[in-house]
Amino acid sequence: MHSSERFPHLKVCDPVVYDMIQRQMAYERSTLKMIASENYASFSVLEAAGSSLTNKYCEGYPSARYYEGNEVMDEIENLAIDRLKALFGAEHANVQPLSGSPANQAVYRSIMAPGAKVMGIPVSEGGHLTHGWKVNFSGQDYLQVPFGPSRETGLLDYDQIREIALRERPRMIWCGTTAYPRTIEYDKFASIADEVGAYLVADIAHISGLIAGGVHPNPVPYCDVVSSTTHKMLRGPRSGFILSRVNDRYQEKYYPTSKFNLARRIDRSVFPCLQGGPHMNIIAGMAVAFGEAAQDSFKEYAQQVVKNARHLGACLMNDGIQLACGGTDTHLLLLDFRAEEFTGKDAAEALARAGIIANFNMVPGDERKPTVTSGVRMGTPGLTSMGMKENDMEQVAKWIVRVLRAIPNSGDVEKAVRAEVADYCKNFKIPGLDD
Ligand SMILES: *Cc1c(COP(=O)(O)O)cnc(C)c1O
Repeated sequence: MHSSERFPHLKVCDPVVYDMIQRQMAYERSTLKMIASENYASFSVLEAAGSSLTNKYCEGYPSARYYEGNEVMDEIENLAIDRLKALFGAEHANVQPLSGSPANQAVYRSIMAPGAKVMGIPVSEGGHLTHGWKVNFSGQDYLQVPFGPSRETGLLDYDQIREIALRERPRMIWCGTTAYPRTIEYDKFASIADEVGAYLVADIAHISGLIAGGVHPNPVPYCDVVSSTTHKMLRGPRSGFILSRVNDRYQEKYYPTSKFNLARRIDRSVFPCLQGGPHMNIIAGMAVAFGEAAQDSFKEYAQQVVKNARHLGACLMNDGIQLACGGTDTHLLLLDFRAEEFTGKDAAEALARAGIIANFNMVPGDERKPTVTSGVRMGTPGLTSMGMKENDMEQVAKWIVRVLRAIPNSGDVEKAVRAEVADYCKNFKIPGLDD
């Protein structure tokens, strides 16, 4: 169906909102979605997420609801849970968190006492707000013990992480980032957590799609808890989930009088502690996305995402662009402009005017402020969903280099590239936008 034939009700009943959606879709059709945390959900996911299941109240969990009429809802939620557990080999899954941050909030509620120490990477070094950043609940209610990638190499230094953990004895360690282009070594994190008696929690929001697709190690065997979003590389609706072991290996130490194991404590943290009714339309969309992610075609997709990121990185480096960590093992690249006159913000804005949509980001060893930075983060999940391959990455690299080299007088180049990008995009079909 062509876009103008879709949304027939909205088009008539609320042309104002209809028009805004159409304009955003036109923008996405004519630009390159290179924000590493974004992707395109399929029509099937969008249909489930946009369905009338949004109307149903079913507080509680399958077979234990506080509202009547939930037989089918139980089936839907159980299906999402079963598919998710199978995808990651997990003992327990909760699919009700409304997004990544609420999932992490529930994780804290189930294993952390207020004021306890949490080891996490600061936002300025590639961690997430919820890993103990000061303006977030996690930095206000808990004490962050920061760690981060080496300022010199950009890599996680596991000896140094172990030293910090031994000195500070945190109750919980987050292993997960928003901007790390290399493989995370969960076995090393696990031996550190074991040694200091800490819970190990992986936040795989960015890389759950890489893990499901088999191109990044799975943290589930190594971690007490794993949290994620579903709308990034995993291509689901906007939501979150929590995986965990059933039993708490520190139950004796921290919850000796509790009659609830780890799985039950997580479920109770999500509902009734933090949330009310689950969004069943979204949970149905998650079930669809988990089904898609279990297909062989998703494995091919995940492999292509990494091939594209690697090839794009190689092309950029060939043209003299520096990359943090010297390249990537994942879906994302961190372009490093510490040696350039222009800032990460200058670069991201110039690229956006040229139709290449990414974001400015701190890089290891960055001396500039977080509001301007010396880097740009870009990822290949969106372009790969459109069907782009290595040869397309060569073209994308050429546009990026042309724009960057023209800064600060890049106006004409931006206009030319913007037109070329829009033209090029016509060769591809975007999932969820074009049939
Ligand atoms: C995106 C992200 C989150 C939070 O997700 P929201 O859905 O935006 O709340 C949490 N952790 C990491 C590592 C992320 O990348």
